Amino acid sequence: MTTPNNELRVKASGVDIAGLRKSYGSNEVLKGIDLTVKPGEVVCLIGPSGSGKSTLLRCVNLLEQPNGGTIHVAGFETTDPEVNLDKMRQNVGMVFQQFNLFPHLTVLENCTVAQLKVLKRSKNDAEKTARENLERVGLGDFGGRYPDQLSGGQQQRVAIARALSMEPTLMLFDEPTSALDPETVGEVLSIMKNLAKSGMTMLVVTHEMSFAKEVADRVVFMDGGVVVEEGKAVEVIGNPQQPRTQDFLRRVL
Ligand code: ADP
Ligand code: MG
Repeated sequence: MTTPNNELRVKASGVDIAGLRKSYGSNEVLKGIDLTVKPGEVVCLIGPSGSGKSTLLRCVNLLEQPNGGTIHVAGFETTDPEVNLDKMRQNVGMVFQQFNLFPHLTVLENCTVAQLKVLKRSKNDAEKTARENLERVGLGDFGGRYPDQLSGGQQQRVAIARALSMEPTLMLFDEPTSALDPETVGEVLSIMKNLAKSGMTMLVVTHEMSFAKEVADRVVFMDGGVVVEEGKAVEVIGNPQQPRTQDFLRRVL
């Protein structure tokens, strides 16, 4: 394995969510969420299944259309009908629980395809950026492989490299280690830790409380579509004040 490249610094932007509401039919899933992530900050979003965490992340880059409230991302107001969605989304890298790599493309091609199609980069430039980012996740020698020749942890690292190849100014992670075999969780968390150190803004939905404690500047606990409690990671995880947070943590820790 090549050594991850930790030297890269990123240009970071923030997210500012105010009064965010989202319903599916009569089911109100987000009931007025206020949440800010400052440039370079790492925020972990925790909470029980069904509390609206994925919906919240998907609203940030408008994969879901909010029913109310405002979201500012990287200088864009996403719910402004005039917003340039492509330009806004170029700022936002997203990594999912299921890695969603293209199975018929090599690792390198997975990391160049959007650069070529969306950013209209030359093949040379796209491959150079892809290689830098594969090195950054410790997979510099894996460009010629296909996804099914990699472990789950390696595939997730490719998914991170692919997102980074678009040079986003913030990254959203939705339970990036939940689908992994336990022995490969650590390698993905370690890449995320390095990314945090490089100055990336990160909003991370996770059940990995030790990661949250170590890496997050802040932890936000959501339940039933509202933010119940937020604060410094050591405070929210180590000394939760709200009964619902205490209940949840008793079950996951
Ligand atoms: P979490 O990620 O915290 O588990 P989700 O955001 O996935 O929660 O889901 C919150 C609620 O929204 C759940 O009740 C879920 O069933 C509902 N929901 C999520 N996505 C959709 C959708 N596309 N259509 C209808 N209901 C949805
Ligand atoms: Mg979810």
